[in-house]
Amino acid sequence: MGNIVAIVGRPNVGKSTLFNRLTQSRQAIVNEEAGTTRDRQYGKVEWTGKEFSLIDTGGWVINSDDVFEEEINKQVKIALEEADVILFVVDVLNGITDLDNEVAAILRRHKKPVIVVANKADNFDLHPAAAEFYSFGLGDPFCISAINGSCSGDLLDKIVATL
Ligand code: GDP
Ligand code: MG
Repeated sequence: MGNIVAIVGRPNVGKSTLFNRLTQSRQAIVNEEAGTTRDRQYGKVEWTGKEFSLIDTGGWVINSDDVFEEEINKQVKIALEEADVILFVVDVLNGITDLDNEVAAILRRHKKPVIVVANKADNFDLHPAAAEFYSFGLGDPFCISAINGSCSGDLLDKIVATL
């Protein structure tokens, strides 16, 4: 297989925004036609002469709380089967939730390289809040703002170095 990077995380942490940021596209949103749901979106990313495929595993449309856990399990299963590197996206504004801890527990049991992406770090004052994500036991949290692009180049460097 080639270089495949999968984005996982609970709803609303910014997975699709990150996907769009890294692929420089509106693909994750544009592909959602009325009446269709998709559980993943693929895009190509080129960075410093290297290319990888990015999967937004959270493209599935969810309407109620009780399917969150099922949705997450599906995302993580896809990522564990297909990805060479997993981007585990969490949210510095909301902090750690039970669902985050569930995802972390599954990821810890596998050998796949994981980058903990602390999203919504829109300014540097928010970076210290990401320290709580060390508790996942999945390495250094990497602060980024998918919405304004802050540190997204550094994240791409890290992804390419991890592949
Ligand atoms: P997903 O459900 O994980 O795919 O999350 P989305 O990408 O759909 O984003 C959920 C919400 O978080 C949206 O309202 C986004 O605009 C917002 N969001 C995404 N990234 C950021 C970010 O870096 N900073 C802030 N402040 N909001 C963000
Ligand atoms: Mg999404």
